[in-house]
Amino acid sequence: MQVYLDNNATTKVDEEVLKEIQPYFSENYFNPSSLYAHEVSKKIEEVRKQVAQLINAHPSEIIFTSGGTEAINLAIKGVIEKDEHIITTKVEHSATLNTCKNFDTTYLNVNKNGDLDLKQLEDSIKINTKLVSVMWANNETGVIFPIDEVIKIVKNINPEILVFTDAVQAVGKIDIDVQKTHVDMLSLSGHKIHAPKGIGALYVRNGIKLKPLISGGHQERGLRGGTENVTGIIALGKACEIANSNNSKIERLRNKLEQEILENCFNAKINGQNRINNTTNISFQYLESELILMELEQCGIYASSGSACLTGSLEPSHVLTAMELDFTQANGAIRFSLSKYTTEKEIDYTIEKISEIISKMIELCPYEDELKKLKE
Ligand code: PLP
Repeated sequence: MQVYLDNNATTKVDEEVLKEIQPYFSENYFNPSSLYAHEVSKKIEEVRKQVAQLINAHPSEIIFTSGGTEAINLAIKGVIEKDEHIITTKVEHSATLNTCKNFDTTYLNVNKNGDLDLKQLEDSIKINTKLVSVMWANNETGVIFPIDEVIKIVKNINPEILVFTDAVQAVGKIDIDVQKTHVDMLSLSGHKIHAPKGIGALYVRNGIKLKPLISGGHQERGLRGGTENVTGIIALGKACEIANSNNSKIERLRNKLEQEILENCFNAKINGQNRINNTTNISFQYLESELILMELEQCGIYASSGSACLTGSLEPSHVLTAMELDFTQANGAIRFSLSKYTTEKEIDYTIEKISEIISKMIELCPYEDELKKLKE
């Protein structure tokens, strides 16, 4: 049996999405800028509407990019000047952290549950603060940040400060309405919502001036030069149209997985409280996540120990470290992330296998006394 539980890393492309893009490889393969390619350029504009609709934006506020990483780079570098200040969090995706490190940046703390320190946000706003960049949902733990509250705090102090949210893991999992939340910019990524890799978008509220990262042709109103990734864009549109389906089924299966693991494994603990529906990050204290993952893979179960972008790094996750987890907990953390394709049978199989693997590993673990104490 093969069980894919790493949907925060990437997702399977939906059959409906594949069907939608096929003609644009074989019949309608024209460059959308060519005069005769009316149908293709019209289709791109229809898709812009589909993407906008999912987050209740205006189509003119959507810029297609090569993915979440580029959208994040464009949001940050597109508005910030050298002497301006950014506020972000310690638990952002590396796309945000590595972009912000070249600027004067304050990194907000989270508590043991993964919740953001809103008081620190208020205290960190300076006269030259230009941008607040706070993710909507965390890719490792699934913890949801209170974007509405963040915006309220920031705009009360200075309405000129822009608020950007990396919503790559939130889109398709929670309802997003940019008119209600008044967020200024928002990034999303196709491959997290059953479209292919290499396509994403940035929402930018009308009226906000942005500097392009990629200069070139007139595409995307001069904000992103280069011939459009037509099939990627069309795939993203379809994926947005069918997003948000099966969310209650996914949540039920995630909760079942979580509860049964907690019952069967005495050293298991869930990391993060207020979370998106598909993610569970579980620490198996005193065990090594890489070894657990190898055992799971032997059983055909694919999960991860955190962000796919950080695989190979020997450091414990920066997200779990920011949550002040003990090293013996952070080092044994596994992320399971489900999708609409996850079945009950797969979850039952995973519960059975992980319980066996953890009991076996506990027996061989050198932290005998510590584990005994945990059991008591
Ligand atoms: N932001 C978050 C929260 C993510 O989980 C990811 C991908 O893992 C990204 C940004 C980057 O998106 P992409 O892979 O489309 O560049």
